[in-house]
Amino acid sequence: FDMFVLAFAERLFRPTFRKDDFVLGKKLGEGAFGVVCKASLANPEAAEKVKANGVMQGDVVVKKATEYGAVEIWMNERVRRACASSCADFLYGFRESKSKGKGAEEYWLIWRFEGEDTLYDLMQSKEFPYNVETKILGDVQDLPKGIARENKIIQTVMRQLLFALDGLHSTGIVHRDIKPQNVIFSEGSRTFKIIDLGAAADLRVGINYIPKEFLLDPRYAAPEQYIMSTQTPSAPSVPVATTLSPVLWQLNLPDRFDIYSLGLIFLQMAFPSLRTDSNLIQFNRQLKRCDYDLEAWRNLVEPRANAELRRGFDIMDLDDGIGWELLTSMVRYKARQRISAKAALAHPYFNREGLLGLSVMQ
Ligand code: ADP
Ligand code: MG
Repeated sequence: FDMFVLAFAERLFRPTFRKDDFVLGKKLGEGAFGVVCKASLANPEAAEKVKANGVMQGDVVVKKATEYGAVEIWMNERVRRACASSCADFLYGFRESKSKGKGAEEYWLIWRFEGEDTLYDLMQSKEFPYNVETKILGDVQDLPKGIARENKIIQTVMRQLLFALDGLHSTGIVHRDIKPQNVIFSEGSRTFKIIDLGAAADLRVGINYIPKEFLLDPRYAAPEQYIMSTQTPSAPSVPVATTLSPVLWQLNLPDRFDIYSLGLIFLQMAFPSLRTDSNLIQFNRQLKRCDYDLEAWRNLVEPRANAELRRGFDIMDLDDGIGWELLTSMVRYKARQRISAKAALAHPYFNREGLLGLSVMQ
């Protein structure tokens, strides 16, 4: 059976939405390509339709996007069918004629409201990572605070994010904008999920499109930056379809772009001092000067490390440095030398028995 026929049928029989179904509330984000708001359902019929889409109650998130929203709808539909648990629950996407401005079209995307906090919000708190432990377990552990306990929590977050990323990559999707702001904590499933497929590429089916290179966040981008750029014209007006065989995927390893970004998140979780924007930018400069060799960076900064930096190295050095080993296999200059999401999940960093029982949470 043709997958496109199935996808079309599945979408056809799902209840559809219109913009009148939603009452827009608090603004959650705004970028060059659209605005994101929390929204409630305008009437009981809309609430029924949401239920039919698998969301039992509560608010939704609405993204009003420019023409690039069409690609983002495609990506979300694909995730919904292939690896739903990796990302925020997507309900529906549709096109609307804009209220102001003649002829302009905008795309509306609707998700379940997963929760208030992104990983970025949680990392800004002095309580991190203990504020995450409470969220994941619903309770605090009766164990002394310290690096071993913090390491367990970071391990759990990393496992969840690698699991989500492996889902996307196995589906043939590269996210390209992995950063703490694009990771949401789902209060329902008590796990971290990936959001914002606005820069994603579906290479297996052939949708490979970067609206503008500056979409890539330079703070988290791997050095190669423009993955598959030879096949992507700089600014086309419609999405460009290219075909990439699994063989080419193997050759170019575009998924390793996301792995680098996730490696930087790992680093920020372990090193409190690298959680601010300015310090992350400074770190990137230092790493570049070290030719993207983390070991060289360590040799550069460790001798004059302050207490906070020291603490980061101490966390990474636990269990014979198995965390540091995983980190250095993610943050590498050459994409092909970076570990894949699937291989990272099997890394010995995750094999140790979880002291807090955290290891039973996927
Ligand atoms: P953009 O970065 O293009 O503005 P995002 O999709 O990243 O759009 O959404 C912007 C912000 O909205 C996120 O950083 C997050 O705070 C919030 N958000 C997005 N999707 C959800 C969701 N499903 N549940 C809760 N909050 C969300
Ligand atoms: Mg975003």
